[in-house]
Amino acid sequence: MIKYDLKCDRGHGFEAWFRNSVGFDEQKAAQEIACPECGSAAIEKAPMAPRLPGKTNSSRAAAVRRELLALREKVEQECDYVGNRFAEEARKIHYGESEARSIYGETSGENAKQLAEEGVAFARIPWVKKESA
Ligand SMILES: [Zn+2]
Repeated sequence: MIKYDLKCDRGHGFEAWFRNSVGFDEQKAAQEIACPECGSAAIEKAPMAPRLPGKTNSSRAAAVRRELLALREKVEQECDYVGNRFAEEARKIHYGESEARSIYGETSGENAKQLAEEGVAFARIPWVKKESA
């Protein structure tokens, strides 16, 4: 059995199980698959994508923003802020010259490239601005 995320021509998303990928094609050709919301038989496989609430681009962007903001807050809670000394500190931790811990901060693209070449583990994340409440 295989599960597909499907979408009708009116944009309703739903899931359905098929015995295999050919099963999907056969049932689609026979118009046996119908949208549970509107009954449309014009069904396509939905592109694989993170599940985000909302259907319009703007609400999708807002959902992405909320996730990035949550990521930022998690980083701020769990990691030490080292500002523009990020590359220096990351390197020290990597070589055991500094206490092993999670840090975050800023660095230039050139420094980031060098760190990657040295095998220092780090990740770049988009840093969203917090809304002034
Ligand atoms: Zn529909």
